[in-house]
Amino acid sequence: MSSADSAYLVFLGPPASGKGTQGRRLAESLAFSYLGTGGLLRGAMREKSDAGRRARPYLEKGRYVPDDIMLPLVSDWLDRQQGGWILDGFPRTLAQAEDLDDLMGDKSQKLIAVSLDVPEEELRRRVGGRVECRSCHWVGRDEEAGDSCRKCGGKMAPRADDDLDRFKKRYREFRELTLPLVDYYQQSARLLSVDGSAEPAKVRQDLADQLATQR
Ligand code: AMP
Repeated sequence: MSSADSAYLVFLGPPASGKGTQGRRLAESLAFSYLGTGGLLRGAMREKSDAGRRARPYLEKGRYVPDDIMLPLVSDWLDRQQGGWILDGFPRTLAQAEDLDDLMGDKSQKLIAVSLDVPEEELRRRVGGRVECRSCHWVGRDEEAGDSCRKCGGKMAPRADDDLDRFKKRYREFRELTLPLVDYYQQSARLLSVDGSAEPAKVRQDLADQLATQR
């Protein structure tokens, strides 16, 4: 697949599986638009928009935000896109996956879901010490990232929902609500599974190799 093709990718994966890192890099290399719904919600919360105020209690508890808040945000963004795009963190429920297919119409046949598989122990290790840019949502490890974002110079800070207790809740939500999407996309032959436990560069290469076989 090259940037000349308009493709539509969604990244599925548990918290700290690398959806943001891989999704952003792939979007950059293909010149596709990128939307991370977690970053969008955290930005909306800081701006205290209506959606941000409604989403806050769910993020604070490590719960998924209800579909009636998520869908308008994502559908507004999709309406503004012209070429290929990558969604990181949407869909997360079967209802969201079905709504996305409805929104896309015929184009939904070109959708590819990328499942990043990482064992729980490795996710727990990653979640401690993860920092995120307050401005552009770039994510790095505490010890390497420093105080300022290397992409935009914004302030790097730990994510409020990255403590172990909330990680456990977010992981449970993932297993119960998002894991069924792997079957959903597998059944319609739109699934790529990637071992997300390797180093980011290796994951990136594996993903690129698998995407190259798509057409
Ligand atoms: P992420 O940055 O992708 O890990 O998302 C952080 C949090 O945002 C999740 O734990 C959810 O509370 C919320 N969130 C992000 N995307 C969705 C979605 N598609 N549906 C429901 N909640 C979401």
